[in-house]
Amino acid sequence: MIELPLAGTGRKIGIAPTKIIAVGLNYREHVKESVSGRKLPDALPSEPVLFAKTPNVLIGPGEAIVIPALIDGYHFEDARVDPEAELAVIIGKRGRRIPEEQAFDYVLGYTCFNDVSQRNFQYLDTSGWFRGKSLDTFGPIGPVVVSRQDIGDPQKLNLYSRINGALKQSGNTADMIFSIPRLIAFISKHFTLEEGDLIATGTPKGISPLHPGDVVEVEIEGIGILRNPVEAERI
Ligand code: MG
Repeated sequence: MIELPLAGTGRKIGIAPTKIIAVGLNYREHVKESVSGRKLPDALPSEPVLFAKTPNVLIGPGEAIVIPALIDGYHFEDARVDPEAELAVIIGKRGRRIPEEQAFDYVLGYTCFNDVSQRNFQYLDTSGWFRGKSLDTFGPIGPVVVSRQDIGDPQKLNLYSRINGALKQSGNTADMIFSIPRLIAFISKHFTLEEGDLIATGTPKGISPLHPGDVVEVEIEGIGILRNPVEAERI
């Protein structure tokens, strides 16, 4: 289990979700860069594009994202692992069919999340995005949790990613196609949200690949910087 400080309290909270529900294609400019050359429709999604990440992905600040050795065995022409800077919503209480107007009552707080993605698996697997999104260590989270009461307006936060200090992604949560309340209402129509579950709300444009030896950062205004090194697995 990952333990993260709850900002301003001196307390820590355990991050142990029963599920991590991620939202694909939730920023307009990222939809544009994602459709080029891939089997995706070029229109904006008419409802949230949901996929799962499994809890084995979670690592804390400073822990290494490990690119698994098995990828070498596929001899992909362009083997590619990308980071995705995302605002993570941490659910605070159980809910099903949560009305949009009450959605924030179900939020404990927010933190930074890196939706690390192995693209070859993601786009080639006929079973979908599962394997490419749920490899061990492919979900850094942190560095702190900021409570719902302390975040201000969560739809007005700048977010960034950097690789080795160079800015790659830059966006604002105002640009989400589906807002946080809409996501919570939509998701909870399908699945009961449990206390501790995570929603990764999508990523802005500027996706760039990671390589062993890199250091990747996800920064969100009002939360902080989540920084993780990247390693190749040695077996
Ligand atoms: Mg993502």
